[in-house]
Amino acid sequence: MKITFPHLGNTYISIEALLEGLGHEPITPPLGSKRTLELGSELGPELICLPFKIVLGNMLEGIDLGAAGVWMIGGWGPCRLGYYGEVQRILLEKAGREVDFFLLEMPRGNMVKTRGLVSRIFGNTKPRTLWSGSQLAWAKLEAMEYLENLALKTRPLEQSAGLTTKILNTHLRKLRRAQSIKTIKVLMEEGHKDFLDIRRAKGHSDTLKVAFVGEIYTVIEPLANLNLEQRLGELGVEVVRTISLKKWVQDHIFKKIIGRSHLSPLKRSAQGYLNTFVGGHGLESVAHSVDSAKANIHGVIQILPVACMPEIIAQGILPQVSLDYNLPIMSLVVDEHSSETGFQTRLEAFVDLLERQVYAHA
Ligand code: SF4
Repeated sequence: MKITFPHLGNTYISIEALLEGLGHEPITPPLGSKRTLELGSELGPELICLPFKIVLGNMLEGIDLGAAGVWMIGGWGPCRLGYYGEVQRILLEKAGREVDFFLLEMPRGNMVKTRGLVSRIFGNTKPRTLWSGSQLAWAKLEAMEYLENLALKTRPLEQSAGLTTKILNTHLRKLRRAQSIKTIKVLMEEGHKDFLDIRRAKGHSDTLKVAFVGEIYTVIEPLANLNLEQRLGELGVEVVRTISLKKWVQDHIFKKIIGRSHLSPLKRSAQGYLNTFVGGHGLESVAHSVDSAKANIHGVIQILPVACMPEIIAQGILPQVSLDYNLPIMSLVVDEHSSETGFQTRLEAFVDLLERQVYAHA
C-alpha cells in the first residue's frame, strides 16, 4: 500500500526504510513549508497546538501525492497527543480524503483492535524482510542523529558560512539512498572526516554551548522551531540537543514492552522542582535544564508551542532553576504567526547576554 506519514526533522529517511521493509510504498510528503502549515491550519481547529497543524498539513500533501494510507503515532497521558490521530482521521474523512489510517500506539487492553492493526501493518511480510528492513531503519536513525550532532558541533566553527549545512545535506541524501548497514557505517566515517575538515582551529572549549529543551516535535522539526539550531550555529553557538529520537523509541517502546520506566533518572534530576510526569516532555525540560547547569553548559533555550500544557508547567519552573544555578534560560513560544525577524532578534540578544556573562569572567 502507498503510505504517507508526517515529517519530524529528517526521520523520513528511517521511516522510508521501515515502510519498505514492511512491503509498503512510502509516499514522503514534501519537506514542511508555509503551504504545509496553511493546509493544516485551514483544516485543523484554530486553538489546537502547532504540531497538530503541521502534521495534518503533511498528511494532506502526502495524500495529494497518491497515498492511500496514513501512519500516525498515538499516545496517552495528560496532553493532547493522545487524541491527535483520531481527530486528524475524522478531519480528513470530513474533507473527503478517505484513507486507511494507521494509528500506531501501545495496546491498551483492546487486543482485537491491536491484532487488526498489526495484521494491516504487517500483511504478508516475510519475517526476514521485516527484520532486515527494521535493522536498516534503525541504522539510518542512528546515523542521522550522529551526522546531525556532528553538524551542531561543527557549525559554530565552520570556515565559511553555510558549509556545514551543505555537507550535512549531502550526507543525508546519501544516507537516504543507502541500502546496507555497511554503506551506512562508511558514510558515518566519511561524515566525521568531512566535518572535521571544515572546522576552524579555534578551540572547542571557547565555543558557547546552549542546551535545547522543550516539546519534542518543536525541538526536532525545523519548520516548527524556525530553524533554531542552524540560526544559533551561525551565531557561533554550539547547540546541545537534549532530545534524541533513538532514545525516545527506546524509552517509549522498548522499555514499555518490558515494563520498565525511563522516568526515575529524570525525577532525580528535577528533584525539588518537579516530581511527577506532566505529559509530553515537561519533566524532561526541567530535568535537562538542571543537568545542563551541572554540565557547565552556558545557557538553555526552551521551545514550546502556544498552549502546550506540559511545557507551560516547565516554563513556570525554569526561572527558579535559572536563579539557583545562575544559568540564563530563555523560553520561546511559537505558533503559525511567529515572525522570523522577532525570533532572530531574541536569539541574538540571548547570545549577547551569554557572551557578556561567559567572556567577562574568562
Ligand atoms: S506536548 Fe504540547 S504541543 Fe505536543 S501534543 Fe502535547 S500539548 Fe500539544
